[in-house]
Amino acid sequence: MTAVADLMDYAEVVESYDPVLGLEVHVELNTKTKMFCGCPNRFGGEPNTHVCPTCLGLPGALPVVNGKAVESAIRIGLALNCEIAEWCRFARKNYFYPDMPKNFQTSQYDEPIAFDGYLDVVLDDGEVVRVGIERAHMEEDTGKSLHVGGATGRIHGAEHSLLDYNRAGVPLIEIVTKPIVGMGERAPEVARAYVTALRDLLRAMDVSDVRMDQGSLRCDANVSLMPKGATEFGTRTETKNVNSLRSVERAVRYEMTRQAAVLASGGSVTQETRHFQEADGTTSAGRVKETAEDYRYFPEPDLVPIAPSREWVEELRKTLPELPWERRKRIKEEWNLTDEELRDLINTGAADLVAATVEAGAKPNEARSWWVQYLTQQANVREVELADLPITPVQVARVIELVNSGELTNKLAREVVQGVLAGEGEPDEVVDKRGLKVVSDDSALIAAVDEALAAQPDVADKIRGGKVQAAGAIVGAVMKATKGQADAKRVRELVLERVGA
Ligand code: ADP
Ligand code: MG
Ligand code: ZN
Repeated sequence: MTAVADLMDYAEVVESYDPVLGLEVHVELNTKTKMFCGCPNRFGGEPNTHVCPTCLGLPGALPVVNGKAVESAIRIGLALNCEIAEWCRFARKNYFYPDMPKNFQTSQYDEPIAFDGYLDVVLDDGEVVRVGIERAHMEEDTGKSLHVGGATGRIHGAEHSLLDYNRAGVPLIEIVTKPIVGMGERAPEVARAYVTALRDLLRAMDVSDVRMDQGSLRCDANVSLMPKGATEFGTRTETKNVNSLRSVERAVRYEMTRQAAVLASGGSVTQETRHFQEADGTTSAGRVKETAEDYRYFPEPDLVPIAPSREWVEELRKTLPELPWERRKRIKEEWNLTDEELRDLINTGAADLVAATVEAGAKPNEARSWWVQYLTQQANVREVELADLPITPVQVARVIELVNSGELTNKLAREVVQGVLAGEGEPDEVVDKRGLKVVSDDSALIAAVDEALAAQPDVADKIRGGKVQAAGAIVGAVMKATKGQADAKRVRELVLERVGA
């Protein structure tokens, strides 16, 4: 592992070098079935239960392309402003690894389904950077290896390994950027902002779960440096294992400071894959990078070429939903937000969630306050992205509705949200299971008020004598007795009524 002394100070790095980035993002599609067989495409499950002869690579089994996956690939290409190939094929990428039972991955090589596009990315200060998209191609995921007995869970030092092929053959789209140049010190931020924008886009299109923590969206970050003023790119490393948006930024920044130290001391950067360590934010060397020749790519003979008609492509273009940037432009106008308010909404990751909550029936300011305040806090406590909290905009809208109809107080509403986050079901189920309905039955409230007044006769006298502020103490006692499940305003009315004030 690189010691801290082997890193160059970041300010010095950007003074002497220009960083070049290339981001490869793999997205698992949320189709019902796998890419080339009818097995369910579902996360988890008992190991080796979502498998068949095709995805296990048994001799004689033949693949068939999943039409829905091709449709998603084309839609993603269109949303990324790409050209859609008139004709393209799958290719075999040959290599041996136990989690890939066929000994080749069915992928696309020099004939990707989508190519030459771009994605506009908003940085934290509102500046927009256009990131070029080289290609988006279709492929299949590998299975998973579990290395047992070692200290690190990695293959090194393990006693044996277990294989689960449930993920083998899950449809993947790999989206590759053109080299991103000229970003200087903002390169790490651009990398994070790009993956964020891509994730928001794919989520809006409902083509993937885009959960970085579950691996349905994965990013490899290629980084190289060239001395200021140079025109030829330096040697790149490709950092894998980057499992959160924040890690994307940290990994790029770390590689920049590491490579700069290597170059400044007269060394040269090795072209290799590297692994990001979440714990200390460093990267460590993986394998020396294969070249394309090593993979002996050739066109897949068991699958027919894909030739999407222009009519079909145009039909699919019409199915694109309102895309995040269009939606942001619209909500800014509709909700009358300042540039700053909109930026806060985007930077907390709440914009699309709030918009979806409004679509589900909530008022913009109510939806905004739930997501930007309470739910952002909850996300911070759990150290997850706001969008990865296990609560949906529809559920938040329902909670807001329950508050507005007087069935929940704000305090109870937060408890309901806690229940939803804990996996206890829909808001209404949580209300039932936890018994969280507001006590709106006056007779029950009157009993509680009378009890509280009897317990504090001096306070009761004060109120009766005209000191209406003193009612607060009684209201507090009633709220406590009803575990916060009473409407405080109604309780106050009843207190005044009962003392005859
Ligand atoms: P590989 O097959 O090695 O993963 P890809 O073409 O899939 O290669 O992805 C390489 C990525 O790295 C692309 O995003 C590309 O734009 C980018 N890239 C290419 N050369 C450099 C370089 N010298 N420095 C940084 N990024 C680079
Ligand atoms: Mg690649
Ligand atoms: Zn299968």
